[in-house]
Amino acid sequence: MASPTSSPKSSPRRTFAIISHPDAGKTTLTEKLLLFGGAIHAAGEVRARGQARRARSDWMKIEQQRGISVTSSVMTFERQGITFNLLDTPGHEDFSEDTYRTLTAVDSAVMVIDAARGIEAQTLKLFEVCRLRNVPIITFVNKVDREGLGGFALLDEIADKLALDVCPMSWPAGMGGEFEGIYDLARDRLHMPADDATGAYEGRQEPVSGLDDAKLEGLLSEQALAKLRDEAELAQGGYASFDLEAYRAGDLTPVYFGSALKDFGVEQLIEALAEHAPPPRAQPAEPREVKPDETAVSGFIFKVQANMNPQHRDRIAFMRLCAGRFRRGMKLSQIGTGKTIAVHSPLLFMARDRELADEAYPGDIIGIPNHGTLRVGDTLTEGEELRFTGLPNFAPEILRRVRLADPTKTKQLRNALNDMAEEGIMQVFHPSIGSQWIVGVVGQLQLEVLISRLQAEYKVDAGFEPSPWDTARWVMGEAKVIEGFLADHRSAMAEDRDGAPVFMAKDLWELSYVQQRNPDVRFAATKDRR
Ligand code: GDP
Repeated sequence: MASPTSSPKSSPRRTFAIISHPDAGKTTLTEKLLLFGGAIHAAGEVRARGQARRARSDWMKIEQQRGISVTSSVMTFERQGITFNLLDTPGHEDFSEDTYRTLTAVDSAVMVIDAARGIEAQTLKLFEVCRLRNVPIITFVNKVDREGLGGFALLDEIADKLALDVCPMSWPAGMGGEFEGIYDLARDRLHMPADDATGAYEGRQEPVSGLDDAKLEGLLSEQALAKLRDEAELAQGGYASFDLEAYRAGDLTPVYFGSALKDFGVEQLIEALAEHAPPPRAQPAEPREVKPDETAVSGFIFKVQANMNPQHRDRIAFMRLCAGRFRRGMKLSQIGTGKTIAVHSPLLFMARDRELADEAYPGDIIGIPNHGTLRVGDTLTEGEELRFTGLPNFAPEILRRVRLADPTKTKQLRNALNDMAEEGIMQVFHPSIGSQWIVGVVGQLQLEVLISRLQAEYKVDAGFEPSPWDTARWVMGEAKVIEGFLADHRSAMAEDRDGAPVFMAKDLWELSYVQQRNPDVRFAATKDRR
């Protein structure tokens, strides 16, 4: 039965993430969004703050070695009465399940594309995760102040590679050296660079009655205007027009052109998020969906960060609030364990610093300090037996045996592996035969991260050895079938951290061979955490 509903008194929320390939401009855009939102006051602060913290804390040293940014997992800013929660997805080329799961906690995403490079490998991967959950996407084509591929080539590439309808919402008047401004097709305004050497956007905009308005002749060079008129007309005729429903269903992406560095298109992007991006959505859960306007508090943990302070071995669990008004000091039930957690010092991640949260609303992210009780995938409620679903474990693509240099450190190693598995940066398997743990990751970089963290945080010298296996799948099916399968394949079986059976295959060929011979067994590449 659904709990009673009432609208909590709060400003509207927009909880979103930026997806992009490294170097497309995510950091620069984040910074500009925070600047426009008044959350920071000078360009460079996002980076500078990261550096200052790095200098201060040992934990940051590790982060620096790891080359992964965790300084700003959640950034909140407000503008025009709307609260924006921007969730950071680690920007490194290689990424972990953590990145995927962050995308389960957002209601929409902004996809940043480098105008000269188009859709790149990581953009595509992250996009696919968004598509799995029908996360609506606004596209920002960045760096139009540099030579790029041209508007049509870019739109066609997005449409082809992502199989999405595209709808240009603005159009650049020239790119690179010929850049003279951006025309807002939705509002009929021309945004122009400042009249100085910076060429940055300083709010110089001119409303016009349309592309035919003679006023444009005084604002753009003859050549640029002729080109803009031609191209914009073609673009408007040749692509889908904006359709809110299609966007929110994840079938259409509105495309904005801009330059994060020179501030072009940033304000328009915020406006687009405010106007079109969905407010907190209903969340899939068992036995019923959870709607954001329910009065009872519920949420799920999508990320855990361990050892933010090595002295205290503390952890922060990041909870996405899905329903109800959360108040500091509330007692929440951890579903499945029967434990009650009193949340006395929740953290809200305001961009300027962490602040103690007195209350939070659906769509907000709350950091809950704890000593390891809370795990990724946990559901917290005011008592109702609910489980949020759809936070997957991904089948690892790389499997390694762990080799311990000092055998007396077995216990430390086990704790360390459990901690890191809990954070969701890797998985740990216990083979049915043999005593060496197997770790599984989805990217090579994670192995290096593991080694350096084992040394720095746990003082454990360990290395990895090749394992005979290349891939792992969760084994599912009727109990009797599974039992028979386990008996026949003991040497290739392991258990994951929760005791679920996992089959390890030498390669995909072997996997498909075994699958054919065992049609009643399901080999799953993802496992719902609950
Ligand atoms: P990230 O790796 O996606 O976070 O990318 P960054 O924000 O760090 O940007 C990568 C590089 O591109 C940096 O040197 C930025 O200064 C530069 N950059 C970002 N946005 C723009 C832009 O709009 N125009 C130009 N010309 N350079 C940009």
